[in-house]
Amino acid sequence: MARTHNLGFPRIGAKRELKFALESYWKGQSSRDELKTTGAALRSRHWQDQAALDLVPVGDFAFYDQVLDMSFTLGNLPERVQDFHGDALDNYFRVARGRSAQSAEDHAHCCGGVAAGEMTKWFDTNYHYIVPEFTAGTQFKLDASRLIEQLQEARTQAVKAKPVIIGPVTYLALGKAKDESDRLALLDRLLPVYSQLLAALAAEGVEWVQIDEPILATELEADWRHAFSTAYHALKTAPVKLLLASYFGPLRANLEWAIKLPTAGFHLDAVNARDELNSALNYLAAHKVLSLGVINGRNIWKTDLNGVLQWLQPVAERLGERLWIAPSCSLLHVPVDLDSEERLDAEVRSWLAFAKQKLVELNVLARALNEGVDTVQAELAANRAAIAARRVSPRVHNPSVKVALSRITPELGQRKSPYAERAAKQAALLKLPKFPTTTIGSFPQTAEIRHARSEYKAGRLDRQGYLAAMRTEIARSVKEQEALGLDVFVHGEAERNDMVEYFGEQLDGYAFSQFGWVQSYGSRCVKPPILFGDISRPRAMTVEWIKYAQSLTDKPMKGMLTGPVTILNWSFVRDDQPRSVSCQQLALAIRQEVLDLEKAGVRVIQIDEAALREGLPLRRAQWQEYLSWAVESFRITANGVADETQIHTHMCYSEFNDIIDSIADMDADVITIETSRSDMELLDAFEDFQYPNEIGPGVYDIHSPNIPSEEHIVQLMQKAAERVPAERLWVNPDCGLKTRQWNEVIPALTNMVKAAKTLRSQL
Ligand code: GLN
Ligand code: ZN
Repeated sequence: MARTHNLGFPRIGAKRELKFALESYWKGQSSRDELKTTGAALRSRHWQDQAALDLVPVGDFAFYDQVLDMSFTLGNLPERVQDFHGDALDNYFRVARGRSAQSAEDHAHCCGGVAAGEMTKWFDTNYHYIVPEFTAGTQFKLDASRLIEQLQEARTQAVKAKPVIIGPVTYLALGKAKDESDRLALLDRLLPVYSQLLAALAAEGVEWVQIDEPILATELEADWRHAFSTAYHALKTAPVKLLLASYFGPLRANLEWAIKLPTAGFHLDAVNARDELNSALNYLAAHKVLSLGVINGRNIWKTDLNGVLQWLQPVAERLGERLWIAPSCSLLHVPVDLDSEERLDAEVRSWLAFAKQKLVELNVLARALNEGVDTVQAELAANRAAIAARRVSPRVHNPSVKVALSRITPELGQRKSPYAERAAKQAALLKLPKFPTTTIGSFPQTAEIRHARSEYKAGRLDRQGYLAAMRTEIARSVKEQEALGLDVFVHGEAERNDMVEYFGEQLDGYAFSQFGWVQSYGSRCVKPPILFGDISRPRAMTVEWIKYAQSLTDKPMKGMLTGPVTILNWSFVRDDQPRSVSCQQLALAIRQEVLDLEKAGVRVIQIDEAALREGLPLRRAQWQEYLSWAVESFRITANGVADETQIHTHMCYSEFNDIIDSIADMDADVITIETSRSDMELLDAFEDFQYPNEIGPGVYDIHSPNIPSEEHIVQLMQKAAERVPAERLWVNPDCGLKTRQWNEVIPALTNMVKAAKTLRSQL
């Protein structure tokens, strides 16, 4: 009998109940008890949703982040929050979000302000966790109260609970030593706390504990491998059975020793590491449970159940009771419930499964294995029909897109002349001053914009009225830019709700859910569009807007586009073709837009690749392959234009060191980067590489309400000029002006323009 379980369930709620409860509590509009009640109600509902499973995860719920929960469980709080006098949950939010000493919250006055914990991406997902902080002196101290309370709560609801915790090695690996000390040196101090934790869970009557070690899917140095051995030998005597869970990819060199660690069970991501199944079976000790992640926890497609059964049935016969089946990873990364969707196209919908539907699939597989395929014949037949329909649907397959793809040649990604020649021609045409000034694209999303958008959506404003309202906003931003004296203008992106959704909505091959929210961090969620079919562009997407904006000024107006790699990385994408192919299709579609903009007389075109770095695979060995098709897709998009047309790209705050050669390969005439928080240190990578083209390092940290002074901007640019020749520098703010108010943006940009003039006079 194969058993079923789940590694984790989305906590945000099908209607984002947790988000709204958190934000209302943070604003002081509801009480802590109300927030806790919402949390308990969500846990309870989600346990019910999983009631058919043999084991249900407990402890996967977090008010902000599961890694931060683990830090509290281990008593590893940053020193700056340790003597807080208030409530523990408030302290937890202080670490998560930071707080200013001036805030009106409880204890702000006596306990002061604190900086928020650093946040970073959870492996290769779009979920962000709060980075644990360590120093050589870090001590750990068990606080199992959160887990114990949730276990007790689960017991009263007769939940077959399996607590979920983050393993000690991954916990250390995810953290950062603030004093550059060796994190692994803390392992000996950490393990006794894990032992106590496991004992405390056993005392609650727990049989199995899932212990997550996703760093097993990455390349590990010898000392980290050794840490695994130390850790799991130390935890061997714990009075619970451990299910060691690896996910997000194959284990490669880690597989053999990891599966031989002394735990009672091992979870293998059999979606991403299918080819390791046979080795896993060979290495598996005779007493050990093998949990197979057979349903993709990272995408929104139905599983090919008949296909899975074909290879799973022999495994089930071989392992009997020792086979467990589950999704590949926690379902945190998919939306909750497809049944909430009312407007999704019926055909596309028939191909999809969200978290609840994925658990139903799991149940069908278990019944097929345990009770015979006859007992689920109807389900299997329906699944077979859906999978087959998707495979041949003309909605998915567009022959002309496939032809266009087959005609891609290297020349398509090639500018006509090298940068130096292009730059001379562009300079002659654009006649920009030294230190040209510009902004990254968006201007404040005013109340008027939001109002017009919601009226339009609600059907109270017709299309003409909506378009007129957006044109008014664009005209306003052009007027403001004239008054500021900027050199290269933007239209301000008033008409765009989101930089990916806006394009997805106009491309064939995309669908949109109403409630397909996925937690990004804390209360923040994203609703990635669904790329389901071959991508084509039925008509121009931005040209009319940019033409209108350009008609209002003699200054060059930037065409503003999102690049193919970013659109891809922020979407749910197809599982029936490589990511690189979907990316090329996007590249061809956006390329047409670039060429149409050029034809309409637009002389500067910016193609944002905010998420280029986010797509990097977990394993460094695969970086080059990703970067080469990603950069090629950008080049196909950008490089069809004449030498005189200036191509800009933009990237958000990120490390550039290890990908700088690929960025140079993109060969944009100008790259603007979000950098003001790094004090220009991000430019070191460009300096060391002798990056040849123009760069606009952000000089105004738009995340802060502070207005940067002219002197500060001049200083930053002088630092920049120590690293990059002044002739190749642009002056611009960081990205994201849409989140600020005009009354903040105007004084800041006024100072920026003054700074540029001062810099010119110094040159
Ligand atoms: N053009 C976009 C803007 O200015 C870029 C957003 C981003 O970099 N994430 O808002
Ligand atoms: Zn950005």
